[in-house]
Formats: sequence, structure tokens, C-alpha cells
Amino acid sequence: MVKLQNTLGRRLVDFAPLEPGHVRLYTCGPTVYNVVHIGNLRTFVFEDVLRRHFRAGGHRVTQVMNLTDVDDKTIRGAQEAGLPLADFTAKYSDAFFRDIRRLNVQPAEGYPRATEHVPEMIDLIRRLDARGHTYESDGSVYFRISTFPGYGKLSGIDLDRTRRSERVADDEYEKEDVRDFAVWKAAKPGEPSWPSPWGEGRPGWHIECSAMSMKYLGEHFDIHTGAVDNVFPHHENEIAQSEGATGHPFVEVWLHAEHLIVDGEKMAKSKGNFYTLDDVLARRDDPAAVRYLLLSVPYRKKLNFTWEALAGAAVAVDHIFTTWDRLTDFGAALGSKPSPFPAEERSEEFLRAFSSALDDDLNTPQALGALFPFLTEINKAFDERTLDAKGAEIARLAIETADKVLGVIPFHVEMRAEPLPAEIEAQIAARNAARKRRDFAESDRIRDELAARGIVLEDLPGGTRWKKAAPV
Ligand code: AMP
Ligand code: ZN
Repeated sequence: MVKLQNTLGRRLVDFAPLEPGHVRLYTCGPTVYNVVHIGNLRTFVFEDVLRRHFRAGGHRVTQVMNLTDVDDKTIRGAQEAGLPLADFTAKYSDAFFRDIRRLNVQPAEGYPRATEHVPEMIDLIRRLDARGHTYESDGSVYFRISTFPGYGKLSGIDLDRTRRSERVADDEYEKEDVRDFAVWKAAKPGEPSWPSPWGEGRPGWHIECSAMSMKYLGEHFDIHTGAVDNVFPHHENEIAQSEGATGHPFVEVWLHAEHLIVDGEKMAKSKGNFYTLDDVLARRDDPAAVRYLLLSVPYRKKLNFTWEALAGAAVAVDHIFTTWDRLTDFGAALGSKPSPFPAEERSEEFLRAFSSALDDDLNTPQALGALFPFLTEINKAFDERTLDAKGAEIARLAIETADKVLGVIPFHVEMRAEPLPAEIEAQIAARNAARKRRDFAESDRIRDELAARGIVLEDLPGGTRWKKAAPV
């Protein structure tokens, strides 16, 4: 049974999907006015691990992630760039898809764009209007939060305090109450707009997610996620809009990832510690290590990004690769004579511990804590020849099962699939020949020369394997 920490009610809950065997998941996607940063990617990787864990447990998952391609930021960005909104946002949505692919994030079942769902948003606003939750002022439509008694139930916000502190700062005088929020914004000159019963305008950001989630996942679905900055006002407003329109519960479980910080500080352009995936890979070209680092901290704890932590992640990933690789390439060479290492029993124990750690509100570090002692035992048994070919196969499959969630081995497979330059192949062959004639000085010389070029060789019972050295 998967247990999840529901932000709504701040409780650890036993999770069971509303429709048995089918998890419906909405994950707030990027606002495509800029390239995503590694903080955004932390949240996307958390959501990926969540979907993979459900799938590993035999559930079908329908994940929907929106692209916010019209809002204040995208409109301002397009104006500054002198581009039509769609051209401006296309560049950043392409970059977003490239980044999540580079981190081996499984594609969601749908990526609806806000600009393609304006009629659904207008419908939802009409439903709210019919139930008395909105009012119009100067061509904009506002949600009157005093009509929704549950307002604040997600974030626990103290509305009376908000009213006092925000009154001065708020410049939207047309609202009856500063706490009300826009569901439809009247068009300003030069801005993209759509026709509506209230005149030309555009949707507010919050209504986008209410309309698109309910369209694709139904009016009552299982899980809605984002990072902590989404709790208020975005998700609080989504609840008010969706439940205000339907009169019944919207989402069962709300999950929020904590932020990624850099060297203990908030990531900010002004501090020079604001990183995109390209920035990180330019310094250390190891996307597997980035993915690993992002999932190595429980999603509800702040993740402190440091270059040392990334180097540590690279070592950990390399350990997973190396173990999996020698089992794959040389496991059969261990022979079929039964050996004493209880591979089947240990693999089962490991997978049980791994998956129950993930059942516990997706405790990824605890799951990794089950993996590493297992790898150590397997390597030891391999080196001491207490592992037979069948055991090696069982252990390899166990590592692959865990990696269905971790998702790091495919990086390695891809890297190994890249053909080696012919001259390096030739050097490896020359070294093998030198070893055969027991010319160890020559074979060591070639090995050192290859190492200097970033190719590391390891001699194993069934032959020699090579890998690229982890970048430094
Ligand atoms: P945005 O593009 O700002 O709409 O953000 C996309 C997703 O990334 C949202 O779920 C945000 O809550 C999340 N997010 C924003 N900043 C961070 C951060 N520093 N760490 C983790 N997640 C973040
Ligand atoms: Zn959203």
C-alpha cells in the first residue's frame, strides 16, 4: 500500500486510486517563457519517479501536464522579444521537452496547452457564474472567495491577515475584495486575446489548470502535484474554482515537492547560481548523475545542489552501471556449477525493501539505501566466485527492476552503444594481444594511454570491458 503525505489535511494517507488499478495524475507544467531551471526539473523528476513507482506496482497511470503558454510572463516575454506569443513559447516548450528527455523522464499521457483550451476555460467560468461565484468588472471576471467557505483548506492561509497586509500593495482596484482573483482578464491593447461573453480577453492562470485537469482526468481525480510555491495561491484557487463549479471534491491527494536550492541559497539570476540543465551539463556532462542527484533526496525536503553532491552522484551511478554491466556481459562466464551465494533470496529481500521505501511517501534515499548494500554483496560474490551464472542473471534482473523507477541504466546503455573510434578499438585489440603473449609492460602502457583519453578498461573473467571515465 502506497502512503502519501497529503498537503490537504497535512496527513499521511493510504492511497487507493478512485478507479481501481488506474491512477489519474495532474502535474503542473512549465510556464514557457524561459528555459526551465534545475529546480523545475527536480519537481518533474519527482513526478516521474511517482508515476514509475505506480507503474512498477502494476497500475495504469494517466498523467497530464499542462504547458502554461499564455499568462502575464509569457505575454511580457513575447512583447520584449518582438515575437508572436506562439512563436515565443514554442521555443521554450521545445527546450522543456528536450530537457526532460535528457533526464529520462517518461512522457506523460498528455501535454495540453492553455491556448488550445480557452473554450473549456470559458465554459468553466460560466458554470461558476451560474452558481454565483463570480462577478464581472470592466470586462474582467473575478472569483469571489467569500462564496467558497472551504477557501484556505489546502494552504491553511489566514485570510484576515492577508486582507490587512495586501490591501495597500494591491493595485487591482476593480476587485471588490483584494483576496478575490481573476478568472478572466480583459484584453489590454497589443495583448493576445480571445472572444468571450465578457468581451475580448484571456484566461487567468489558475483557471487554466482547473479546466485542463478536469477535461482530461475527470472532475474528481486522484493526485495533483507541484512544488511548494504552487500551494498558495495557485492550487488553493484551483480547488475553489473546480469545487465551486462542480459542487463536489476535486482532488483526493495533493503532493508538493520542496524547492531545490544552490549552495544553501535560493537560486537567483542575480546571485549567479541560477542553473539550467545546459549550464550544469556544460560543467559536467553527466545527465545520469543529474537525474540521480535530483531523486536522491526525499521530495519533501529541500535539495541543496552542490558540485560535490553531483560528483558523489556520478560515483553512485557508476557503481550501479558497473555492477549491472559485469553481470550482463560476464555473468554467463561464471558457469552453471551451483555456488553458495543465495542470489534469489537476496534479490527478493532487496526488492521488497526497495519498494516498501518508495511506498513510504516515495522515500527515494531509503530505496537507494537498500540498493547499495545489495550491489556490494553481488560484487563481492562475483569477485570471490561464489556467484553462479543463474544467480548473476537473477541479480541483474533485480537491478533492472529497481531501475524501472530510478531510470539511470538507459543512460549507460546509450553511452555504450556509441561506437568507439576505430583507433581505440585497435588499441584495445593490441592490448589484448599483448596480454596474451604476457607482455604486461606493453599492455599496461596501452591501458594508461587509453585512460588518458578517457577510456577505462577492466579485465574480467569473460574478457575485457571498457567504459568512459566519469567526467571530472
Ligand atoms: P513554473 O514554470 O514557474 O510554472 O514552474 C514549473 C514547476 O516547477 C512548478 O511545479 C513549480 O512549483 C516548480 N518549481 C519552481 N521553482 C522551483 C524550485 N526552485 N525547486 C523545485 N521546483 C520548483
Ligand atoms: Zn497548475
